[in-house]
Amino acid sequence: MKLNLNIQPLNSWIDTKNEPLLISGPCSAETEEQLLTTAHLLAATGKVSVLRAGIWKPRTRPGEFEGIGSIGLEWLNRAKKETGLPIAVEVANAKHVEEALAAGVDILWIGARSTVNPFTVQEIADALQGHDVPVLIKNPINPDLQLWIGAIERINRAGITKIGAIHRGFSSYEKTSFRNEPMWELAIQLKTLCPELPIFNDPSHICGNRELIPYISQKALDLDMQGLMIESHVDPTVAWTDAKQQLTPAALVELVDKLTVREPESANEDFKDHLTTLRESIDKIDDILLQKLGERMAIVAKIGEYKRDNQVTILQVNRWDAIIKKGTAFAKALKLDVNFTEKFLELVHGESIRRQTEIMNANKAGEVIAAEKHVEVKA
Ligand code: PEP
Ligand code: MN
Repeated sequence: MKLNLNIQPLNSWIDTKNEPLLISGPCSAETEEQLLTTAHLLAATGKVSVLRAGIWKPRTRPGEFEGIGSIGLEWLNRAKKETGLPIAVEVANAKHVEEALAAGVDILWIGARSTVNPFTVQEIADALQGHDVPVLIKNPINPDLQLWIGAIERINRAGITKIGAIHRGFSSYEKTSFRNEPMWELAIQLKTLCPELPIFNDPSHICGNRELIPYISQKALDLDMQGLMIESHVDPTVAWTDAKQQLTPAALVELVDKLTVREPESANEDFKDHLTTLRESIDKIDDILLQKLGERMAIVAKIGEYKRDNQVTILQVNRWDAIIKKGTAFAKALKLDVNFTEKFLELVHGESIRRQTEIMNANKAGEVIAAEKHVEVKA
């Protein structure tokens, strides 16, 4: 089901002449000099559309730098006057909203630690009532699409129609190369549910380090995201927060110049014909895959009946091990990603177990007594 949001196109509230559209600035405003120097360097690049800076910082542990506070609004305003760049800050409660609006902040954003909490989001939404200000909503810390959508809906219901989402990745217990797992599929699902909603990507918070930022930025553009929010600092090595993931304005230019901006569609007729032919080929293969899965499940049902009649358990671990071993070796030979193949086989196996469980637990009349929903079996 599509989301029913009342939102205005991005170009009605941000100057979109720059491609990719870039929101940049320090993680935190630290001193007036740091903010103004950074802002001037960013403006001079001609590539930045919005200046960002955090002045109220949500920190995981107390005792760390918690933001410079309201004085930062004066510095941001000076930066705006001197550079002409619109300014954006994070707000996390009603007081922040009131102060930011009174100070003429152009764009507000809701941070990941606020999006997780519907009380906080509602408080912000109530404070926004009657104001025509753009609001960007970061994904919640945890990979919960409904929570992200809920926050967007709350802000929209408060009458805010200039809305964008920011994909900044998701916290995970397992430590990987990323500070926050991108989990692109969640951003893609959001886009599918609401194609008119602009989505920005925040490679700084996804990567947590400078090295991976180009890779994530390019991937975001290739997934047709509308822009990037990248943290930048006149001297990242001495930044008071998120030092490892900020770029100098010069490094930012270098990064942006290397990005390839591709079009979601091409007007070229030959291209369209070729793409249509290729898509028809994969559609045919998908039909065969589904048909074969259907045939597989019919045999699985027969096996289920046979096991039931002979009082044998559904799961035989050795058999499952053998399937995985054979499957992954075959996948390697076919140059398929082994991780993908394992997940695919697990999904198919999980569905087979569910089918057999249904058959085992059907009563004499063949009615299913305890039907489970589809289960995903984790290795
Ligand atoms: C930030 O943008 O500096 C920030 C605190 O981000 P997030 O809410 O994504 O952690
Ligand atoms: Mn930050």
